[in-house]
Amino acid sequence: TKFTDLKLSPDVLKAIAEAGYETPTPIQAGAIPHALEGKDVLGIAQTGTGKTASFTLPMVTMLAKGRARARMPRSLVLCPTRELAAQVAENFDTYAKYTKLTKALLIGGVSFGEQDKLIDRGVDVLIATPGRLLDHFERGKLLLTGVQIMVVDEADRMLDMGFIPDIERIFQLTPFTRQTMFYSATMAPEIERITNTFLHTPARIEV
Ligand code: AMP
Repeated sequence: TKFTDLKLSPDVLKAIAEAGYETPTPIQAGAIPHALEGKDVLGIAQTGTGKTASFTLPMVTMLAKGRARARMPRSLVLCPTRELAAQVAENFDTYAKYTKLTKALLIGGVSFGEQDKLIDRGVDVLIATPGRLLDHFERGKLLLTGVQIMVVDEADRMLDMGFIPDIERIFQLTPFTRQTMFYSATMAPEIERITNTFLHTPARIEV
């Protein structure tokens, strides 16, 4: 498979060519076609496999077809740690470079002020840790009813860190009709239960 076979938008293809990527990794070749068809994806993949691009590239392609900077966020990426969320945000900036899409990084350890400003201005994509996302929600700053694409990254680490109840709550705050891309390195019973509850007949890609 080549990137140009994957039906990604020209803007995205240009950005990844510039990043020097030549060939999709197995998780990318497996997940991207399903994601672009609107299907849920269950990716069983470790860090280093290119999983971040496997959800970000189709997300950017799909969001860029709608109106940028809508009133409500249209996509939500949940990460277990601040560091991982910041990395995903950097990747998003690289891949969305030739689009008008905007993002906010919602993580703890920094004041609410800057994050509030971004949310008020209107962003397309939220990249967040579960606790900080729920903090914003509880402060009445955030509605998740416009979320069309939700990503859960490194679910096994979320489980280790005790975030599963937060993840379930966040799923319930988003529309049933959302598209979900869910990633975990392993499939513990608790992870299997969550995917059975919240994913709709996902394409399962194991690398
Ligand atoms: P990840 O597994 O998402 O943390 O990605 C691991 C690293 O691989 C990151 O530094 C990416 O920039 C890089 N990468 C992702 N996809 C590709 C690709 N198709 N070709 C070359 N490098 C890639």
